[in-house]
Amino acid sequence: MKYRYLLVDRIPRHLEEGVVYHTEEFELAGLLCACGCGHRITLLVPDSHQVWDEGGHATIRPSIGVFDAPCKSHYVISAGDVQWLRAFSDAQAANIMRAQIARHIEMDAKPVTWRQRASGAVASLFRKFLAFFSK
Ligand SMILES: [Zn+2]
Repeated sequence: MKYRYLLVDRIPRHLEEGVVYHTEEFELAGLLCACGCGHRITLLVPDSHQVWDEGGHATIRPSIGVFDAPCKSHYVISAGDVQWLRAFSDAQAANIMRAQIARHIEMDAKPVTWRQRASGAVASLFRKFLAFFSK
């Protein structure tokens, strides 16, 4: 299976296997897990991941770690091809999640205080998800 790249206005409710959906407006990408488990993966683009169109196939960086589904898959997608990486342990997964949240807080650097910064980052993430799910 090769992942196709598809630029969309909104991530559709029903995803097809082997398609990476990317919406620039909502800064999200959506795909079904490469292991075939049916888990729906949502990526924050460009906050957490970069997605490119390579001749109609999708490239995603960095790797995708599936922490919130039983498969715990870990892989990168390059020009549509899936390259499997070693699965994360629960402890590693928790560390990576924590680091990502910390990075989000750091990146939202405009407001003055740490508290404002943190709430700004969380609020902007929340707005994205609300906009995404309230279709
Ligand atoms: Zn999976």
